[in-house]
Amino acid sequence: MSRVYNFSAGPAVLPEEVLREAAEEMLDYQGTGMSVMEMSHRSKAYKDIIEEAEADLRDLMGIPDDYEVLFLQGGASQQFAMIPMNLMKNKTADYIVTGQWAKKASEEAGKYGRVNIIASSADKTFSYIPDCSDLPVSEDADYVYICENNTIYGTKYKELPNTKGKILVADVSSCFLSEPVDVTKYGVIYGGVQKNIGPAGTVIVIIRRDLITEDVLPGTPTMLKYKTHADAGSLYNTPPAYGIYICGKVFKWLKKQGGLAAMKEKNEKKAKILYDYLDQSRMFRGTVEAKDRSLMNVPFVTGDEDLDAKFVKEAKAAGFENLKGHRTVGGMRASIYNAMPAEGVEALVAFMKKFEEENL
Ligand SMILES: *Cc1c(COP(=O)(O)O)cnc(C)c1O
Repeated sequence: MSRVYNFSAGPAVLPEEVLREAAEEMLDYQGTGMSVMEMSHRSKAYKDIIEEAEADLRDLMGIPDDYEVLFLQGGASQQFAMIPMNLMKNKTADYIVTGQWAKKASEEAGKYGRVNIIASSADKTFSYIPDCSDLPVSEDADYVYICENNTIYGTKYKELPNTKGKILVADVSSCFLSEPVDVTKYGVIYGGVQKNIGPAGTVIVIIRRDLITEDVLPGTPTMLKYKTHADAGSLYNTPPAYGIYICGKVFKWLKKQGGLAAMKEKNEKKAKILYDYLDQSRMFRGTVEAKDRSLMNVPFVTGDEDLDAKFVKEAKAAGFENLKGHRTVGGMRASIYNAMPAEGVEALVAFMKKFEEENL
């Protein structure tokens, strides 16, 4: 068996320890004689799994009691519709567009009400985060929406926008659990887990309880009401059971690493290795304004498409997988999520140095 360094943006690298544990428990989960995949979601064993996962997540993030934690399906993209369906009481929402995902979310919300784009960084290919300290937040906005870490472009909000009292809704898919977060600043925090937590198919929504009501847009399907899932403890129907089980293991792994403050420190050190190299390289350069750099997704280019392609090909042959940039950006992107070891980033930088020497 040999494992590569996997720089995929998602589905992405998971902690090896977690994968080994899951493998050990595959045929017989803790004496039940069956895999978690084969288990009734109403069984005692599964109830313990989902309850423990929630408790550990609450612990890690310091989620207050007036917030609900939901484990849902449908990918992050389903939340693009669920959010307006559940929250657009005035049928108005403000969106800050800092990349493809925020743009898609805003377009979806436009089906349900009036969407105001109150800031955007489209003018410079989403290479920065706009100043959000004094935006023209709409008087009647039901919420202000952001994508907190832009997976494709490699930017991250270092400061949350001033929403002038409106509810903040954030897609944190690609920065989930990468650093401590003050949950009380948000109305809704959500993310697909396949970027930084677990297998695709599970979405975690952390939502302030007073936002969960029956007062949703007419015609909202039962399955798309937060209340349906909140009332049933995420067990209204069969949940993404195996995915939640793996998420639970990752939560325990994170606690063992020292929690989110320790993860932040590790992630900063890891990202610095790569950014420091990019800043002095004569061949490669980062594509994002330094102040807005993501700790999780690092896009870079040589400035020559053929050379980019050569690099991606040779890197792959050397055991560095999925370094090709998003199809809309080109170049390269190294996603260095929680589970990417520092050695992986060090090895990548060593490889880049060698490539630079050989090709400059
Ligand atoms: C990947 C991603 C999505 C889309 O996730 P799906 O689960 O495929 O719908 C949305 N937002 C962000 C920030 C992402 O990185």
